[in-house]
Amino acid sequence: MHTYEDLKSIKYLGIMGGTFDPIHFGHLVAAETARVAFNLEKVLFIPTGQPPHKVDHKVTGAWERYEMVKMAIEANDSFRILSLELEREGPSYTIDTLRELRGILPDPDFYFITGADALRSMLGWREPEEIIKLTKVISASRPGYPLQDLFDLIDRSVPQFRDRIFQLKIPALAISSTDIRTRVKEGLSIRYLIPDNVKNYIKERGFYRNL
Ligand code: ATP
Ligand code: MG
Repeated sequence: MHTYEDLKSIKYLGIMGGTFDPIHFGHLVAAETARVAFNLEKVLFIPTGQPPHKVDHKVTGAWERYEMVKMAIEANDSFRILSLELEREGPSYTIDTLRELRGILPDPDFYFITGADALRSMLGWREPEEIIKLTKVISASRPGYPLQDLFDLIDRSVPQFRDRIFQLKIPALAISSTDIRTRVKEGLSIRYLIPDNVKNYIKERGFYRNL
């Protein structure tokens, strides 16, 4: 069980949601760059329990994905992992998570960190207006997902969100969990794409070999 005590006095809090199947350096560099650029005192990594949108492949067990995130961030005091989505029944909706967090932490300004692809799909998530009311959103650049097109779309379709959404240029890493899973399946190296301890855990547990 997590204690939220030390988070209550924070002013700027980052939230990094994802399936993290597995976590990789693209996630970590997005979180770290956002932390520095927006003065975030902590970034909370919140692995999805049951992702509502990933139906194309069998997702690795929630607690195993949690374990990989935990290993990946253990050396960074500014990063924290929360299991609240894993403890909830049913599909994980971001709006439910934000409401739950807001109930526990009434004071901090929330900054939800996403890649440009995730922000685009977020506009189609459950209750996007409510999400934007509860949290500001940082849209990190991601190779293959031009930020400009996305912000044009936001200006056209939801201009009222515009002052709550920020663009963030981060060092470009064309890494995705999908690509990592494929590499493992095909016996290719994933070294330098994800932290070594996570790589070793994947090997030890035999993840992704028989997708
Ligand atoms: P998958 O291929 O399974 O969808 P993914 O690499 O996209 O995995 P997710 O867990 O879906 O990882 O993403 C979590 C968040 O991290 C999303 O907001 C996503 O846009 C962002 N993200 C993932 N990879 C990168 C990257 N290389 N650069 C910037 N943002 C990224
Ligand atoms: Mg993704």
